[in-house]
Amino acid sequence: MDVAHALDPSHFPYLKPAEFSRLAEAYRYSEAAHLGQVRQSGEAYISHPLAVTEILGGWHLDSQALTAALLHDVLEDAAISKEEMAQSFGRQVAELVDGVSKLDKIEFQSAEHAQAENFRKMLLAMARDVRVILIKLADRLHNMRTLGAVPPAKRRRIARETMEIYAPIANRLGLNAVFHELQELAFENLHPMRFRVLALATQSARGNRREAVGRTAAAIRNRIAEYGLDATVIGREKHVYSTYKKMVEKHLSFSEVHDIHGFRVLVKDQPACYLALGALHSLYKPIPGKFKDYIAIPKANGYQSLHTALIGPYGGPVEVQIRTEKMHRVAESGVASHWMYKEEGSPLSDVQKETHRWLQSLLDLQSQSGDSHEFLEHVKVDLFPDEVYVFTPKGRIISLPRGATVVDFAYFVHTDVGNSCVAGKVNGELMPLRTELRNGDRVEIITASHSRPNPAWLQYVRTGKARANIRHFLKTMQYEESAQLGLRLLDQALKTLGSAVTAIDDASWERTVRDSVARSRQELLADLGLGKQLPAVIARRLLRHTEGGRDEARVPAKGSSVLIRGTEGVAVQLASCCRPIPGDRIVGSIKKGQGLVVHADDCRAVKRSRKNEPDQWVDVEWDPATTKLFPAALKLMVTNQRGALARVAAEIGEAGSNIDSVSMDDDRAVYTTMHFVVEVANRRHLARVIRSLRRVSDVKRIVRVKD
Ligand code: MN
Repeated sequence: MDVAHALDPSHFPYLKPAEFSRLAEAYRYSEAAHLGQVRQSGEAYISHPLAVTEILGGWHLDSQALTAALLHDVLEDAAISKEEMAQSFGRQVAELVDGVSKLDKIEFQSAEHAQAENFRKMLLAMARDVRVILIKLADRLHNMRTLGAVPPAKRRRIARETMEIYAPIANRLGLNAVFHELQELAFENLHPMRFRVLALATQSARGNRREAVGRTAAAIRNRIAEYGLDATVIGREKHVYSTYKKMVEKHLSFSEVHDIHGFRVLVKDQPACYLALGALHSLYKPIPGKFKDYIAIPKANGYQSLHTALIGPYGGPVEVQIRTEKMHRVAESGVASHWMYKEEGSPLSDVQKETHRWLQSLLDLQSQSGDSHEFLEHVKVDLFPDEVYVFTPKGRIISLPRGATVVDFAYFVHTDVGNSCVAGKVNGELMPLRTELRNGDRVEIITASHSRPNPAWLQYVRTGKARANIRHFLKTMQYEESAQLGLRLLDQALKTLGSAVTAIDDASWERTVRDSVARSRQELLADLGLGKQLPAVIARRLLRHTEGGRDEARVPAKGSSVLIRGTEGVAVQLASCCRPIPGDRIVGSIKKGQGLVVHADDCRAVKRSRKNEPDQWVDVEWDPATTKLFPAALKLMVTNQRGALARVAAEIGEAGSNIDSVSMDDDRAVYTTMHFVVEVANRRHLARVIRSLRRVSDVKRIVRVKD
């Protein structure tokens, strides 16, 4: 065993002995799992999870989080499953480790600034449990502290990710100390030269101003004591990165930034803060407009303090922050301070509830109404409950509403992609279009040029963009198909009057369009297809306008029926009451807004309408050339025996037909009834299917269902 690495109880003084011994068990487990692995520095790998756990111990995190920190790289590196981990260390620990591993898998790639915010949100949303983020931040902190051994290119990538993603998250969660340390380390690795120069300058400036700072601090201490207050006064060190940022952003020289002396005054309670402020303002003249009361109005991350700036004894500005001890802890440790300073003996769940509440308020989330008893069992915080963040194949992150599907994603990428999508690859796996996307999914859309939007998509898309585009496409498609059908209906009507569409000249068209109050010929044809206008009426109108047409004797042409191919699209529907197939005698009905509905000639459902409203009905015939398959319904009486359905289904397949749907009556009698919808080319094909089925001994009766 490596003596240099061992779990030292002094880092976890707040743990109960039983908790510590369980932690030691996790340590031995992790050490065994990482045995033989070394870090880039050459150290045994276990040194890393150990250091991460000690950082978390400094934040007084609970033993579940500490255990998870010890094991945080085990799922990734060793061949242990989440299930095994749950069995050994509990479900909670396994979930935490799994959460950290998931965050590890996603890498920030984009250089775009706007993408960084999305990425941060995605991480927070994926974490779900705030402890996952805290473990991840401690992990990143240790990796940054030991970045020296890593090759330069990777070092820069990690430093940039830290600067843009992890430091702002630490800031957002109020972990001030972590925030500043991550920034310093990232800056040092991104700009080593600038860092070195500024660090040296900071060091010598500190030496130069030591005396001045000491005197000012003493003067402040004395004045506050005269006011009868107990206070700790500390000179504030300037961070290298924040100096650099001030120089760049405010166009200041190094000495201008460093001429500002900073102090922090810690007092016992809130009233003392305001008293100390009064004391300071009586000592040095305040600079107008610099006073800020973050006690009355805390910052979004929970930070509280009074800020003021004074004209110091040497003429330069003196900045002072005044706060209580408790405010100081929140300022330094943010969310972690709730674990850190929980009162002795208070149950963990209370602390967690408080943390949750605090997080909710700082993230400006609406707190759930009332239901506090089932608030949480553990610190599960859905930080962005209304959004999911997913990757495009190029690594862009896009935000979609929660519940969004592959189709929503496709339309987000581009309308054309949405209109022609057929499937999606989610994390490399082929998935159906209705698949709901989850945080961190990498999505790729598969398109096909012949593919079109399906009305069924409207049932599950979540985005307005997808919905509007699908609706628009379907409407346009229906319009075009209706116009095509309208042309055929009109031609039929003209043929029964001894003419044809080809015989109509443009002038007659124009006048007829005008008479019919349509905007264009296309619109008039679409109206015909949709049943808004009657073909016979328009045909007569056209002929009236055709010159010389009046005097000709008109002989109805033969074969003036509209040919039905079954592939007309939405403009032509086969009635579901009688399910006509080629070979059946058929008749067409034109109803307003429905287009042409084709019924079997003997369909009982339409008998009365044919007698009462003859104008609605047109002659139709099957196009002999049609190659489509049509649905036909069959009812079978079958011996109630095991394997009967399989034998029937096999026979249907043998006869070259597909089964569209099947259902069975739920009875336990000797015979049962099976309902099939099969696909056939025509009546002859259907007859062949029926003949084959008769050969199955279980089948006692077969009926084609036509209503
Ligand atoms: Mn790690």
